[in-house]
Amino acid sequence: MNVLLIGSGAREHALAWKLAQSPMLGKLFAAPGNPGIARHAQLVDIDPADHRGTVDFCLKNSVELIVIGPEAPLVDGLADNLRTMGFGVFGPNRIPAQLEGSKGFTKDLCARHGIPTARYVRASDKLAAEAALADFALPVVIKADGLAAGKGVIIAETAEEAQAALDIMFEGGFGAAGAEVVIEQFLTGEEASFFAITDGTTALPFGSAQDHKRVGDGDTGPNTGGMGAYSPASILTPELEERVMAEIIRPTVRAMAENGTPYSGVLYAGLMLTADGPSLIEYNVRFGDPECQVLMARLEGDLLELMRATARGELAEIDAPRFSAETALTIVMAARGYPGTAEKGGRIANIGAAETLGATVFQAGTAAREDELVASGGRVLSVTAKGKDVREAQAKAYEAAGLIDFATGFYRRDIGWREVERLKA
Ligand code: ATP
Repeated sequence: MNVLLIGSGAREHALAWKLAQSPMLGKLFAAPGNPGIARHAQLVDIDPADHRGTVDFCLKNSVELIVIGPEAPLVDGLADNLRTMGFGVFGPNRIPAQLEGSKGFTKDLCARHGIPTARYVRASDKLAAEAALADFALPVVIKADGLAAGKGVIIAETAEEAQAALDIMFEGGFGAAGAEVVIEQFLTGEEASFFAITDGTTALPFGSAQDHKRVGDGDTGPNTGGMGAYSPASILTPELEERVMAEIIRPTVRAMAENGTPYSGVLYAGLMLTADGPSLIEYNVRFGDPECQVLMARLEGDLLELMRATARGELAEIDAPRFSAETALTIVMAARGYPGTAEKGGRIANIGAAETLGATVFQAGTAAREDELVASGGRVLSVTAKGKDVREAQAKAYEAAGLIDFATGFYRRDIGWREVERLKA
């Protein structure tokens, strides 16, 4: 079966790498892809914002399944247009993608269906937001309703900071995303990511992970897209995972179906593990990056079969996803300056040497220049390794990263620290 993969990050490289292992795969196309993805797929120059062009490409090239990696094309309704034309799609339609596209939408759904989440108020004008603030203890969390590339959340420690956050949002600091805000109670606990795949009716667990959002060691410095991750996150015990399925994932899937807008694809729950149990912080409607890299490293069996069954509404008929009992860990190598302006053009070499050690190096912001590979974005490589526990995976991944020649790059030295601490305990 021919497949078109949309996206260009290390997440999509990991998906391409895994899809390429499927005996069911015919041709794999990727748009726009990157030089790493090009090892497994034919890169094609179509713009996912051009729905008609994407449909035409799929018709001409007998594509049967389209896998949409990032959230923007999903929130933009690309899946709807492809489904209308009869294609199989891995990824939700526009309305169910509101689970990520609108924080207020998700909070209201949680409220209606008793799904555990922080207490909240939605406000679409500043006066109402200021009035609502009075009902919340400090710190308080203020969120732009719409997509803000991970930057639309402000945790205000003081009343002045809360006021300043509202000023920024309502003065257009987050563009249209901040035209409405969600004010919510601050929760304490450890964060973890949990994944499920669902065809709209059946939902199956798809593993857990923890990422590292801050740029610096010891979780310091500004937020990033993610500097590393590992899977599984042992803090999410099998009992807790079953609770997340029963209290959060299944009620969401049921609610979306009852609403006439079934959710199909991967559902990624950002959780806070509070003293009272798991609470939903946010949904994402696609795999996380870098979490996808570690999930793919551990996934056994055929990703294409799972994605095809998801797209066709046949998840109840196939075996549940199986994951290796090993731990996978990935280190993100970023270009100097990231998450601010990242230095472009830095030469990258010796990826092969890292892979000889058994690591897998997924590419994100890379470009081919003459015979060389150079950095072309903020997050550049995702060096991924497996081991019998987090310590072994960590040692292998750092040994591999150390062999890569990337003078203008940097990476955190402590990916996996929480899990290592837990092992010691
Ligand atoms: P991203 O895309 O970067 O994951 P986002 O912009 O979609 O983020 P959220 O995930 O809702 O926003 O929030 C970002 C971060 O803010 C969370 O990972 C968490 O650390 C913190 N946060 C959000 N809501 C709360 C809350 N109610 N209590 C405590 N911390 C919170």
